[in-house]
Amino acid sequence: MNATDSQEPSVAELVRPGVLTQPVYEPGKPIDDVARELGLDPATVLKLASNENPLGASPAGVAAAQRALRQIELYPDGGAVRLRARLADHLGVAPGQVIVGNGSNEILELLGHVFLGPGVEAVMGERAFAVYKLVTLLFGATPVEVPLVDHRHDLDALLAAITERTRLVFLPSPNNPTGTANDAADIVRFARALPPHVIFVFDEAYVEYLDDPADLRPLIAEGRKIICTRTFSKIYGLAGLRLGYGYAPAELTALLNRVRQPFNVNAVALAAGEAALEDAAWVEKSRETNRAGLAQLAAGFERLGLEYIPSVTNFVSVRVGDGAAMFKALQARGVIVRPMGGYGMPEWIRISVGTREQNARVLGELGALVRGEAE
Ligand SMILES: *Cc1c(COP(=O)(O)O)cnc(C)c1O
Repeated sequence: MNATDSQEPSVAELVRPGVLTQPVYEPGKPIDDVARELGLDPATVLKLASNENPLGASPAGVAAAQRALRQIELYPDGGAVRLRARLADHLGVAPGQVIVGNGSNEILELLGHVFLGPGVEAVMGERAFAVYKLVTLLFGATPVEVPLVDHRHDLDALLAAITERTRLVFLPSPNNPTGTANDAADIVRFARALPPHVIFVFDEAYVEYLDDPADLRPLIAEGRKIICTRTFSKIYGLAGLRLGYGYAPAELTALLNRVRQPFNVNAVALAAGEAALEDAAWVEKSRETNRAGLAQLAAGFERLGLEYIPSVTNFVSVRVGDGAAMFKALQARGVIVRPMGGYGMPEWIRISVGTREQNARVLGELGALVRGEAE
């Protein structure tokens, strides 16, 4: 047989079902790519597309990462013992209740490994974080998407969508891309109302930005089937290192540990995470900067007469007419935002909150384009 023999199956004919129909996640474009494509100086390109911390990473985290680089010939601690102990302390749970991942996205994938497969359903909001649906489809399970009401998750409708086949129900608080959260008391009631054959995946990627987050730890202590996921990518500013974690009843984390890679989190990320976790001052400063930035953007949108979704996190979605065209026009002027057509919101773009100067720049460019002053 040789490669040109027409009897040979192509690689595409050899894949397992679902691979060819699996949708692909579209990440925010890297600054260097945009600069190269448009012939711009990368230093002048502003990326407000992936909800990263505009102040950068926790300096303590960066210093620890640099120290860890001196020993990268060694495998990392596969059990992440120190980081998990610190997280457990921080959360007031037992170390055995904590699992770390290569980003919290990995924890979502581990949940798929353990709970999803053909014939099984996962319930999620229709405009919730895209990864829930991708993971569900990846494992051959069926996503059941529930419309949001006023850009917020409809908890009663999520409950009503649960069937005997449901294994996972996803709820992000706040949600990406809408920037909204449900009331804490409503979330606790929702968690209590779930039937015992369902695992509740509560995504707290932006929890540090909330004033009054729902606390599910008492329910986890009761042994309820809940996993809360968090990340170092957002307020801690460590998105490039890929580090996230989950906390749950120990029985649940033990199952997730069975399906992860032995060294799923690298040594540099483990060290940076330990240090960043203790850097409360950085978190507070980031929170303050974000609060001011949200107000600045909201005031700017109002001046421009643009509808926006009031946000409780570090990004805000604004209605601009043709979201894809606005994304392109802003990008041509060196500002990268996120178009929302993929979320069924083609008239909207999502803008991450930047520093004061960055927010002023995106508002200025947006204003010029909205008023038709742009060349
Ligand atoms: C950014 C984000 C995450 C975090 O992903 P990581 O893999 O930890 O970087 C998780 N959930 C939501 C809703 C997010 O927006």
